[in-house]
Amino acid sequence: MQDYIQISKINDFIFCPFSIYLHGIYENFSEKTYHSSYQTRGKLKHESVDTGTYSTSKNILQGTEVYSEKYELVGKIDTLDTDKKKLIERKNKIINIYDGYRYQLYAQYFCLIEMGYEIEEMSLYSISDNKSYPIPLPDEDTTKEFEAVLEKIRKFDPSTKISKNPQKCEKCIYNNLCN
Ligand code: SF4
Repeated sequence: MQDYIQISKINDFIFCPFSIYLHGIYENFSEKTYHSSYQTRGKLKHESVDTGTYSTSKNILQGTEVYSEKYELVGKIDTLDTDKKKLIERKNKIINIYDGYRYQLYAQYFCLIEMGYEIEEMSLYSISDNKSYPIPLPDEDTTKEFEAVLEKIRKFDPSTKISKNPQKCEKCIYNNLCN
């Protein structure tokens, strides 16, 4: 289980590789210690999913735990409509379709497929402006791209020098703790 990657960390890694190192250090602390208000807002929107309070329909799975032995991934999906075979990842507000968002969906997709679910569509949903962004299912090229990211996460060396991006750092939950 040691090499398993949490799905939520894939997006963090794309945002900034160093953040997953800090996540590992601070994950046992109260999130209030380091969460910026920017990210707390997004998290609160997600709480209804994580606690399964968003929908009671039988065909809607929310906050379900998933895993993939093949990719050594664990995590939770956001929403799966098993009738429509549609996987949805909701975000507070989507301004860009970041690669990290796509990889998060791919990770959920591969886990669900391995667990025997069928998925024909995927999309990102921006809650605050009610916009939906279809994301194609992973093909051969995007699967290789995704596998390369997992490889990079596994091989990441926290002593690697990273260049700080002030715009990202401003929004980062570890901003107060990161030197
Ligand atoms: S504060 Fe900046 S450099 Fe530090 S983990 Fe966050 S994004 Fe990365």
